[in-house]
Amino acid sequence: MNKIKIIVAGPRGKMGSEALRMISKEEGLELAACVDRKNGGKQVKDVEGLPQFDAYIYEDLEECFQSVEADVLVDLTTPEVGYKHTKLALEYGLRPVVGTTGFTEEQLAELTDLAERKELGVVIAPNFALGAVLMMQFSKWAAKYFPDVEIIERHHDNKLDAPSGTAVKTAQLIKEARESKKQGHPDEKETIEGARGADFDGMKIHSVRLPGLVAHQEVVFGGSGQNLTIKHDSFHRESFMSGVKLAVEHVIKLDMLVYGLENLLD
Ligand code: NAP
Repeated sequence: MNKIKIIVAGPRGKMGSEALRMISKEEGLELAACVDRKNGGKQVKDVEGLPQFDAYIYEDLEECFQSVEADVLVDLTTPEVGYKHTKLALEYGLRPVVGTTGFTEEQLAELTDLAERKELGVVIAPNFALGAVLMMQFSKWAAKYFPDVEIIERHHDNKLDAPSGTAVKTAQLIKEARESKKQGHPDEKETIEGARGADFDGMKIHSVRLPGLVAHQEVVFGGSGQNLTIKHDSFHRESFMSGVKLAVEHVIKLDMLVYGLENLLD
């Protein structure tokens, strides 16, 4: 079988460099090139900290698409850049796998339409950690039987947004599975503002930010005389790479946009 040829955008980033390491270990994947706003013209192996690939680095994505033959663009940059890169990749006949979060509804609708017209696959995955994707699915299932629930997410203290995208997605899935419900005592009062966390459809979301953490979430369901806790921990960015691999292997068979890794699972 032919190897899947990949262009990685954002190779010096924490996710991008991890993706390069994953590609270097996978028989069926090949790095065709990288796109980086620094190091244009160099080979990947000449950049400190990156794996020993002979592939070239381009500063301009369009120039890269014109010069290199590839099947998939793996974009691990920022939401604004990821959107532009996805559009351009589709224009050039490549299938994008995108890990950046924060696409607007309009951007998603536009990309869905473009993928359909071009008959090309796109995978946009706000969370590549398979365990986290399963945690969300299990939580949706549990909410049908345990509608009282609170979400506690914990992340490193460099994270800018709160609550995390995963916590919001979990809350949305729970909302789909249960009747709207205002939880806690009807007369409860916060003596310090924010003590009860953020409110989403009556359930509470608590965000912890501390050095040493990576990405962790507990979904705690309360019932009479029992609690159920569904917990996931990402200890290292390596935890996202089995999801990136899964997305790359699926996207080449798709002819439409798929949002969320859960839609690729059996
Ligand atoms: P990071 O370490 O800051 O890496 C981002 C990379 O993108 C950097 O190399 C950066 O280059 C590059 N970049 C930024 N703007 C660019 C531009 N205009 N053109 C080309 N490259 C550009 O961040 P990270 O932790 O790896 O995360 C990368 C993305 O993945 C983020 O959007 C994050 O939210 C997302 N993420 C997704 C998951 C998931 O499971 N889906 C998990 C973790 C993170 P410079 O160094 O030059 O700025």
